[in-house]
Amino acid sequence: MKAIRRFTVRTVLPEPLTQLEELVLNLRWSWHHETLDLFRAVDPALWKAVDHDPVRLLGEVSPERLDRLAEDRRFLRRLRDAAEELREYLTAPRWYQSRPGVPSSIAYFSPEYGITAALPQYSGGLGILAGDHLKTASDLGVPIIGVGLLYRHGYFSQSLSPDGWQLERYPPIDPNGLPLTLLREKDGSPVRVRIGLPKGGPLHAQVWLARVGRVPQLLLDSDVEENEPSARDVTDRLYGGGGDHRLLQEMLLGIGGVRAIRAYCRITGHAAPEVFHTNEGHAGFLGLERIRELVAERGLAFDEALEAARAGTVFTTHTPVPAGIDRFPRELVGRYFGGANEEPAVPVDRILALGAEDYPGGDRTVFNMAVMGMRLAQRVNGVSELHGRVSREMFGGLWGGFDTAEVPIGSITNGVHAGTWVAREIQELAAREIPSLVETGSGWEEILSRPGTELWRVRGVLRRRLVLDARRRLRESWRQRGASEAETSWIDDALDPDVLTIGFARRVPSYKRLTLMMRDPARLRRILLDPRRPVQIVIAGKAHPADEGGKRLIQEIVRFADAEDVRHRIVFLPDYDMDLGRLLVQGCDVWMNNPLRPLEACGTSGMKAALNGGLNLSVLDGWWDEWYDGQNGWSIPSADGLAAPDRRDDLEAAALYELIEDHVAVTFYDRDSAGLPRRWLEMVKHTIATLGPKVLATRMVRDYVERYYTPAAGSARAMAADGYAGARELAAWKRRVAQAWPGVTVEHVEGGGDHSPHVGARLPVRVVVDLGGLDPGDVAVEVAYGRVDASDTIVEPSYLELGGAEKADGGRLRYAGEIPLGRSGAFGYSVRVVPSHPRLSGRAEPGLVALPPAPHGMTNGDLR
Ligand SMILES: *Cc1c(COP(=O)(O)O)cnc(C)c1O
Repeated sequence: MKAIRRFTVRTVLPEPLTQLEELVLNLRWSWHHETLDLFRAVDPALWKAVDHDPVRLLGEVSPERLDRLAEDRRFLRRLRDAAEELREYLTAPRWYQSRPGVPSSIAYFSPEYGITAALPQYSGGLGILAGDHLKTASDLGVPIIGVGLLYRHGYFSQSLSPDGWQLERYPPIDPNGLPLTLLREKDGSPVRVRIGLPKGGPLHAQVWLARVGRVPQLLLDSDVEENEPSARDVTDRLYGGGGDHRLLQEMLLGIGGVRAIRAYCRITGHAAPEVFHTNEGHAGFLGLERIRELVAERGLAFDEALEAARAGTVFTTHTPVPAGIDRFPRELVGRYFGGANEEPAVPVDRILALGAEDYPGGDRTVFNMAVMGMRLAQRVNGVSELHGRVSREMFGGLWGGFDTAEVPIGSITNGVHAGTWVAREIQELAAREIPSLVETGSGWEEILSRPGTELWRVRGVLRRRLVLDARRRLRESWRQRGASEAETSWIDDALDPDVLTIGFARRVPSYKRLTLMMRDPARLRRILLDPRRPVQIVIAGKAHPADEGGKRLIQEIVRFADAEDVRHRIVFLPDYDMDLGRLLVQGCDVWMNNPLRPLEACGTSGMKAALNGGLNLSVLDGWWDEWYDGQNGWSIPSADGLAAPDRRDDLEAAALYELIEDHVAVTFYDRDSAGLPRRWLEMVKHTIATLGPKVLATRMVRDYVERYYTPAAGSARAMAADGYAGARELAAWKRRVAQAWPGVTVEHVEGGGDHSPHVGARLPVRVVVDLGGLDPGDVAVEVAYGRVDASDTIVEPSYLELGGAEKADGGRLRYAGEIPLGRSGAFGYSVRVVPSHPRLSGRAEPGLVALPPAPHGMTNGDLR
């Protein structure tokens, strides 16, 4: 009989063992080997049987075993030590506690989190990054509160049909069987968050609390009895279908998320966040809720509240693929935020304006969550330098009139959490050979002078572990696909612990080109089966359940890998998740990545491989574009200027084969008399020494704290001071400037008489402007100057603010200055007027600029 309700009965631990529950309920165990060792000691056989999931371990361990442990003095001592160590980790001052001016706390919103495979609340890179961000914040003592949704069906687990088609299963989760506790009021009743809906009652949600080291994480869950069945399903799965379902999820995440934080701070006394960080557009509605609060509770007008809220908001965009941006029909957003559900404090027409693509090339029928995110955040960034550049182009329409380089979108390159992704053996080797690495994070260069013998031994251990585990997974997969015992005996010898191993694992959207390596199947066969320098390839990846094309790619790979002649050298391992990911990035010698440049915003799996002593073989995209240096791996040449996709794939695949045959395999199999691949090890050591400090998430989170969170907190404080006087003044100023702006004109520009000046001379410029009623203090009049290209565009202009505003006739003003001519060659300048206010984050922020009527104002000359 099938159960109609399912729940988990929690074990009651004997008194001496109660600290075990404390340890299990803090997810720090997901990156702390000593704690995992302790869990294993509870019952080694069961630990294996429950897939290293501590909650299941405690749920299934026998009372007799617990009674025995309760009297085991050695175990109790270890338990006490571990609990004490955790408490020390949770309370001791860390890096953040010595930083000046930092926010009292920061709220971090993300639709998904990859913390551990036991909490399948992630689909790919965005979630893994969010998980690594929280863990690293914890390690550094950054007071972040994570906010997300709890999906009752996590992301799907993947298996294969007999003919290699992806099958999906959505195992239900029971929050009581997870390391979560329900957030409760002081009187013990569960906290309820409510958000208004246009019809029926409000949507209710309860709030689960996870502890990620020092970081509390709040997960909203709509599966509560007060809700109608359809409302209970709002958080049923990650990225619910289209339209209403997804919009409701995002309303719950953004609006409900802020309300959950307020409840959490009220109950626990936690400091209220000064900065709100939106990890991608999905959580953007949080800005609306903060505006509502400020209007309702502080009496601000909408525009004033907008200034106050956006000053403390950071928005990170994660995709350079326009189709990857979250958009809703305007009409749908209008329906949910208007009519009977309209909040007087947040009028629906203001909301619609925030998400409008009202710039050239925009689609007037959609509501764009990224565009809203950028309007609601004073600080915006992409996730690698290249992605920052691509984003400035992609969203440049929001700052019309400014050069792409001036579009106020910066970048912080992603990083990865070492504790989660670096093999224990490598961590221990580092602790033995270069203790400063573990203690202070310094001394990376010392690795260059080590012989590398130990490193090579550990690499062998990790490769062997990958091979053994891959065989286990392969056997299981073939059994599921209907193969008999006899048909799987070949798997005992599948893959080889001594063969050069290439890993390729990722989600399967078309831009990642899962099957590029199969462009020329005969050549791939030759590479795999080369008698002197064989290569083996381990592949994993999930296609989005609705992506038939992606599933076909997986099937193509699986069919190729099923062939008898190559199946011992190329394998597809189903169900790519954090556990499989860790196994692969630790065990592979080479991490391959061949996206269509520049569609990979950053990518992080290659960073994980690098930290484990793997080498990257990748198209110059995302982070690799920034940090490939010719010695730390190989770059697959990209034909990204080429319009014909087939031709482009042909060229890039041919280059990939050639690199593997002539460089990767040759270097790997070139051994000295001791059997060591000298040149290979040089490359590995160089990779760890130079990339190590950059790819760590500690670098990333410090960058966020120093370049975004701290300045945002400063701006937010300036807005809030004196009863929000700053926000009121800035809003009034922006309104006045925007109204007057159509009257701001550059009337006349006069350059110095000498048309072929020398390097080192100074070129006097005089400009007459009409400020349309604005004061000189409201604007900056600037000269942009520098080298010009053949079309008279100033390349990477420098800016000089002109001073000495003098009255000219008709209420106009005359400005003057001197341009330094610092270089020879074609040179040009132009003039502009932009708004200027000390509380703007940069010149382009209001998106207003007045330029001289082209081509007037340009003096080109050849400098000698
Ligand atoms: C690291 C990781 C990702 C993200 O890696 P990309 O390089 O962006 O593809 C996705 N899924 C899992 C399971 C990971 O471990």
